[in-house]
Amino acid sequence: MTLFDLTGKVALVTGGGRGLGRGMAFALAQAGADVAVTSRTKSQLEETAKAIEALGRRAFAVTCDVTQPESIEKTVKAVLDRFGRLDILVNAAGVNKRTPSLEVTPELWDLIVDTNLKGTFFCCQAAAKVMKEQGGGKIINIGSLASEIGLPRRVPYTAAKSGVLGLTKALAVEWASYNICINAIGPGYYRTEMTEPLFADKEWTKKLLARIPMKRAGLPEDLAGAVIFLASKASDYVTGQIIYVDGGFLAGWLD
Ligand code: NDP
Repeated sequence: MTLFDLTGKVALVTGGGRGLGRGMAFALAQAGADVAVTSRTKSQLEETAKAIEALGRRAFAVTCDVTQPESIEKTVKAVLDRFGRLDILVNAAGVNKRTPSLEVTPELWDLIVDTNLKGTFFCCQAAAKVMKEQGGGKIINIGSLASEIGLPRRVPYTAAKSGVLGLTKALAVEWASYNICINAIGPGYYRTEMTEPLFADKEWTKKLLARIPMKRAGLPEDLAGAVIFLASKASDYVTGQIIYVDGGFLAGWLD
């Protein structure tokens, strides 16, 4: 269906080497986009790029540290040199470490906030400079349940992911005149490298699944529909919103 067709579009996915970023990169390619993936681990990017090329799309693996604005600028330039345009940005690079708040160091705070919040902002800025010149674009930030509710022992992460939602709304207002739509996806609990230590705990997993109305954790492919929608023409009048893809977690309390 042409409303969701991304043929001829170029996407850049940060955190695209594994986990949810990899899943969304693959989904965009399935919908027709050529996709550049970025993170700090070249081998994972190359593996994702290979999987995208196997779908018959063009792919590009480029390393980047999103905590460094100059690294982001270089990456966007490399994507332009390779593909000549940039239509879609997905900001999936992220990091989290559960720590009681009384033990959070300035270094841990900076790592989590710089990756999830500062990195997201400067990726948005670098992409928007290109999209403004092109006449528009789509930016999809990755929030979390922590964009909406407070998660204990994940306070820097909660602050950063709440900030991601805030900047998504503010930029949506500011960049609407450039025809840039900027929205967020809020995944619930997904089993990835980030959450593996949690899911390794059988008791914790049992309690979590009991709390999710759909009674299962998310899979990377559960984000495919939301990311394709927000990247496509189908969402041209949607900006400044967050879509939670959480199996019903935030919809209410199960008693
Ligand atoms: P993973 O740990 O599997 O993936 C994180 C990705 O981010 C990796 O590709 C990693 O690559 C990249 N990354 C981390 N730091 C940097 C950096 N400084 N520069 C560039 N890339 C970086 O986690 P998930 O796939 O689970 O997480 C993806 C996103 O989804 C994150 O924003 C996370 O907060 C969010 N999320 C995840 C949930 C879940 O349940 N899993 C729930 C809600 C939100 P590398 O380390 O090689 O650089």
